[in-house]
Amino acid sequence: MALIVHKYGGTSMGSTERIRNVAKRVAKWARAGHQMVVVPSAMSGETNRLLGLAKELAPTKPGDAYSRELDALAATGEQASSALLAIALQAEGMQAVSYAGWQVTIKTNNAYTKARIESIDDERVRADLSAGKVVIITGFQGVDDGGNVTTLGRGGSDTSAVAVAAALKAHECLIYTDVDGVYTTDPRVVPEARRLHTVSFEEMLEMASMGSKVLQIRSVEFAGKYKVPLRVLSSFTEWDIDINEEAKSGTLISFEEDENMEQAIVSGIAFNRDEAKISVLGVPDTPGIAYQILGAVADANIEVDVIIQNISKDGKTDFSFTVHRNDYSKAVDLLKTQVLPKLGAQEVTGDAKICKVSIVGIGMRSHVGIASKMFRVLSEEGINIQMISTSEIKTSVVIDEKYMELAVRALHKAFDLDQPTV
Ligand code: ADP
Ligand code: ASP
Ligand code: MG
Repeated sequence: MALIVHKYGGTSMGSTERIRNVAKRVAKWARAGHQMVVVPSAMSGETNRLLGLAKELAPTKPGDAYSRELDALAATGEQASSALLAIALQAEGMQAVSYAGWQVTIKTNNAYTKARIESIDDERVRADLSAGKVVIITGFQGVDDGGNVTTLGRGGSDTSAVAVAAALKAHECLIYTDVDGVYTTDPRVVPEARRLHTVSFEEMLEMASMGSKVLQIRSVEFAGKYKVPLRVLSSFTEWDIDINEEAKSGTLISFEEDENMEQAIVSGIAFNRDEAKISVLGVPDTPGIAYQILGAVADANIEVDVIIQNISKDGKTDFSFTVHRNDYSKAVDLLKTQVLPKLGAQEVTGDAKICKVSIVGIGMRSHVGIASKMFRVLSEEGINIQMISTSEIKTSVVIDEKYMELAVRALHKAFDLDQPTV
């Protein structure tokens, strides 16, 4: 008997029919003798619908004055799906109880719309599990010290599930979704993408942080920090398939580089359309410039991603970086009103129509020429590279958004990701 956490995404919870299927699957696992904790997302489209209603009333966006209410609103999606799942499980003859984040409690900081989990009290959950109940915990939400409901950022139910699994020291956290695992790239963009049987934790971390929406980045960070065994698998298989077969399906996020790891140099391609580029032009090239620009941005709680500073000409330089598109106008305003006058820089410009494409693979550590091959492939397609950033196991480029799919497809082919590995 093991304690298992299942997470079901929005599409998997998308109708009463699908919720019934989830209940049957969870009941199968419970009847096989496992202690079951389930973390559902809101039914598909629900979070967008709720946030859309708010937008009809006021032009809301994360970080603005309405953020507290946006969280109170968006969190109801998961509360509804959790209760529905509890009802479906009870209708299957199981004992089941659902809890909202504040009832568990899942404590977060107070950064509305992108809160971070700080602690999880497992007492109530453990008591229910010992009493033989299936426990359902809302994904995506928590509560801050002031008792305010918070949400964890889009896709945050993955993080809830992994954090719950870590707190309960679960045997495994299974992320059920609408694809049957982690692919070499998004199969919706490249139909030839292949499912990976295993992906190393480090690669998954890079892929998620570079924009692969299959797992929210923080869920992977949690899995790494607490060594939570993690698997991504399909919720669209028949609910009554053999449990042992199901337990081995999908993609395992592995913490060890063993002989079973697929040996490709580049394992996957990620892309991200959620960023925008900002350039501060004509900055005096003196010590402390990067700090003055990025310090102000960080103080406004805006995360910065790719950064480049050009060589200086006549004592002046240009400084560019990317931020999340949601933070774009806030960052530009801030730079124009507060930083530009102080620095004596000439101009702040920006481009929200960019995307970032990344190749990821632990094999890049031991092979040279991978980044240059990437640049060659892009140049052959006539795609201009605006920014480059690298780590030991990834190379990312910022390009015009309109070339994203072309770039991803060309790179996927050039690195033989459509070919089965030996
Ligand atoms: P859920 O609602 O279950 O959380 P998401 O939509 O958040 O599902 O994540 C699953 C989606 O992630 C897939 O439908 C797929 O389009 C997308 N995706 C992006 N990159 C990948 C990848 N490398 N492998 C698999 N799916 C990916
Ligand atoms: N419902 C939330 C969202 O749509 C969280 C999630 O699905 O993981 O972003
Ligand atoms: Mg998701």
